[in-house]
Amino acid sequence: MELAQKWFSTLFPSVCIVCRQTINTAAINTSVEICQQCYAALPANDPCCCRCALPLAENMDGRVLCGRCIRRPPDFDYVHSLFRYEQAVIGLIHQLKFSQKITFSRTLGEMLLSRMQLEMQTPEEGPDCLLPVPLYTARLRQRGFNQSIEIARVMAKKLQIPIIYDAVVRRRSTGTQTGLNAKQRQKNIRGAFEVVKEIKGRHVLIIDDVMTTGATVNELSRLLKIQKVKRVGVLCLARAPMKN
Ligand SMILES: [Zn+2]
Ligand SMILES: [Zn+2]
Repeated sequence: MELAQKWFSTLFPSVCIVCRQTINTAAINTSVEICQQCYAALPANDPCCCRCALPLAENMDGRVLCGRCIRRPPDFDYVHSLFRYEQAVIGLIHQLKFSQKITFSRTLGEMLLSRMQLEMQTPEEGPDCLLPVPLYTARLRQRGFNQSIEIARVMAKKLQIPIIYDAVVRRRSTGTQTGLNAKQRQKNIRGAFEVVKEIKGRHVLIIDDVMTTGATVNELSRLLKIQKVKRVGVLCLARAPMKN
């Protein structure tokens, strides 16, 4: 097995998903195909709100809540985001969505997994199932795949927990939410999802690519909590800052 892997990596050396340069596989974890320079250049989401991961100003420190979470606590219990939604990350996510390369999902899935494990004190604190944000069928047909499902697959395999595929469905398209403010998005997303099967998990982790205002994951969390799910977390690739 190990020999086959060595043979494979000599024939097909790892290429960084950002800069396309060949990576020295001896120096990195073989399943993460991003070079150290590119990784270091990506914007970490720190500091951020300890509940919704909203990017906060540099001088904020420790466990701080943003104004919105103080005024109206969200339905999810926590959010972890790998990066801030800034230029370098926008390109990466665009490639994930449109190039359909499995290496993207694998690398990002591995990165999300280690981000999640970093936050956990014990394995028992982890989720018992994953919920990739469901896409509207027409959109899924157009794109051919749901990038959140691809990422969730990588994580589920490592964690040995199930993925919720068909218990929650998207009933209607919400159109593009770009240009809508937080309140409008919240109104737009109401009733977009429906729980059609019993949710077995007690701690569900929602997997999303970009979290903007949080309206979508909050609506999903609201439905899960109605279904008696005890704890709902969100794990996303990038978290957008507040719009002025
Ligand atoms: Zn690179
Ligand atoms: Zn917050």
